[in-house]
Amino acid sequence: MSDPSAGVDAETASTPVTVLAGPTAVGKGTVSAAIRARYPEIWLSVSATTRAPRPGEVDGVHYRFVSEEEFSSLIENGQMLEWAVVHGRNKYGTPRGPVEQKVAEGRPVLLEIDLAGARQVRDSLPEAQFVFLAPPDWDTLVDRLVGRGTEDAEERERRLATARVELAAEDEFDVTIVNDTVDRAAAELARLLGVRDLT
Ligand code: 5GP
Repeated sequence: MSDPSAGVDAETASTPVTVLAGPTAVGKGTVSAAIRARYPEIWLSVSATTRAPRPGEVDGVHYRFVSEEEFSSLIENGQMLEWAVVHGRNKYGTPRGPVEQKVAEGRPVLLEIDLAGARQVRDSLPEAQFVFLAPPDWDTLVDRLVGRGTEDAEERERRLATARVELAAEDEFDVTIVNDTVDRAAAELARLLGVRDLT
């Protein structure tokens, strides 16, 4: 690959770590995937998780898939920048070492994590930039959650209840991006990371 810092705008790239959070089903994963595909200058943190891989997910690219024991030892050895149990089920966390390494290299770093994780990063890295991804409106969020069709009715209700609480956290963030279209939201996020849109 060419120089990974190409396209990074030195004037706006003063915040090395950006945290992207938002309610369930708002499209954090889709916006992150767009960032991964279109803005290689941005380094997307690879979370460790105890959940099983979904079809198409690659270990070390989308997640580091680890056992409960491995996850516990990462925590015990102080190797997690943050971690949380998401949707009351699986554990997810941000390995600290790679983040510190990329920051040292001067790469813009993006963490796509849940709200509980974002709050922990705010305590440990208060200089980070906190971005809230919001749906255009509540009905759109419900449509996206139902439309995804991956959860049963009970799980959907649980996620909607969580989403209501999560939406109320918007004020804790430095900036809000409305996920009206993925391309636009990803471009706005890239700009916040100091990366020019070269397309
Ligand atoms: P999924 O299982 O659909 O890939 O992700 C479920 C949720 O876990 C998403 O809301 C995502 O933001 C969150 N998540 C993914 N990685 C991390 C992480 O490293 N830390 C925390 N706290 N949450 C994460």
